[in-house]
Amino acid sequence: MLRCCLPNHNHGGEVRFRDHSVSRGLCCARIAPLAALVALLSGCGHSAAQPTPPVPVVPVAAPTLPRVVIFSIDGLRPDALLQAGAPVIAGLASRGASTWRAQTVMPSTTLPSHASMLSGYLPSAHGITWDDYRPENGPIAVSTVFSVARAAGLRTVLIAGKEKLRQLDVPGMVQRFDLCAADDQEVASRAAGEAMAGFDLMFVHLPQTDLTGHAQGWMSAAYLDAIAGADRAVGRVLAALPAGTTVIVTADHGGHDFNHGTTQPADMLIPWVMAGPRVAVRTLTTKVVTTDTAATAAWVLGLSLPGGASGRPVLEAFEPPAVTGARAGLAVGASR
Ligand SMILES: [Zn+2]
Repeated sequence: MLRCCLPNHNHGGEVRFRDHSVSRGLCCARIAPLAALVALLSGCGHSAAQPTPPVPVVPVAAPTLPRVVIFSIDGLRPDALLQAGAPVIAGLASRGASTWRAQTVMPSTTLPSHASMLSGYLPSAHGITWDDYRPENGPIAVSTVFSVARAAGLRTVLIAGKEKLRQLDVPGMVQRFDLCAADDQEVASRAAGEAMAGFDLMFVHLPQTDLTGHAQGWMSAAYLDAIAGADRAVGRVLAALPAGTTVIVTADHGGHDFNHGTTQPADMLIPWVMAGPRVAVRTLTTKVVTTDTAATAAWVLGLSLPGGASGRPVLEAFEPPAVTGARAGLAVGASR
């Protein structure tokens, strides 16, 4: 693929160049008006020649490069999401692709699941089976969607509401790791700030739903209220996002009684909602696993996970043809 001369100025003055076939086409489109202008000016120096009719310069729209935000609402059960109302997330689902029967991995706990969600690897491969921050174990040992994005020169941001997610902070792979207090609205405020500062890939972790489930019980009134709060937090971040951002909303696990971590459907089932450019409006029939989140986010960015990853892009979520524009010519895994 040709390297395109298309700079991206959206990152605090940093100018980068990215490989995208769509950019190549846009570069050609940008050259056309310039050529017309040169022809017009060169015609001015030859008074004996036939007057050259003015060539209208057609303005070229600024290119929109792919950009992805992943929201994880900790401990969110799909049935509870529907019961709580959650108009913001329901709105995303109504104009995008969704399933309420996506699955997390075992153990259905926060850190192993997020490690799979953001790497595309199962716990047996990434090795994180514990659920607290253990700095002595070092950061996650496999590639993540952040490291794939960084290798492509993209700007990566991770806003976390629990310290244990530090285990996923591989030095140099997350350019902005922001550990907040366990408060969804504070997480949203930080994420909104990062959205305005500029990013290519951002992960936003909202912790309060899970904490309320442990304290008051899953499906309790307080738990449903916490989901409503998480929904408002998502809405606040969405309001700050640049147009054309692809948004994924999902969860690390569900829960029952006052805990989670089992193979019960209440613990294993998670919501999976995506909206954005070229995302189809449909209920997904594909079996979506949390590892597919990393693969899908990478695919939207025009990238792919290493071959050893289990996650696959959820291609059913996109308008056909699935491989178009920025993604054309890229090696991506097959849809499940
Ligand atoms: Zn929990």
